[in-house]
Amino acid sequence: MGYDTDNIFAKILRGEAPAFKVCENDFALAFMDVMPQVDGHTLVIPKDGCEDLLDADPQILGETIQVVQTVAGAVKEAFEAPGVMIAQLNGSAAGQTVFHLHFHIMPRFSGLEFRMHARDMEDFDKLEKHAERIRACL
Ligand code: AMP
Repeated sequence: MGYDTDNIFAKILRGEAPAFKVCENDFALAFMDVMPQVDGHTLVIPKDGCEDLLDADPQILGETIQVVQTVAGAVKEAFEAPGVMIAQLNGSAAGQTVFHLHFHIMPRFSGLEFRMHARDMEDFDKLEKHAERIRACL
């Protein structure tokens, strides 16, 4: 099928769709998931268009994972979380719904369950406040 340049994350990268941005560099962008499974659920995507981990340029992947590491630390600190989970899905059979490579970063507290994947839209003011909280820890 090939990479679809009209996917929602490609639109965010082109500025054609809004995002609650956390940070970016030449290679990657971090922003809030609009249907978070936990408060602080953040996504990191490469700026290069690729569907998933398997078709990513290894160098771009290396740059992107460095942003994942940095943002994961900031998310953990911002939400005072004892743990942080990184998730990354490849293919619809694995649950992937947006076909532009992305890493999920989710603060974790033992006993606190996840909300449903990609289901309920979060309040936009809350997302902006969460993005600000994470930016303050970068
Ligand atoms: P996946 O199922 O791993 O492909 O995850 C896609 C994620 O993108 C889900 O967690 C969705 O909630 C999230 N998502 C979908 N549309 C947007 C959007 N416009 N801005 C931010 N996150 C989004």
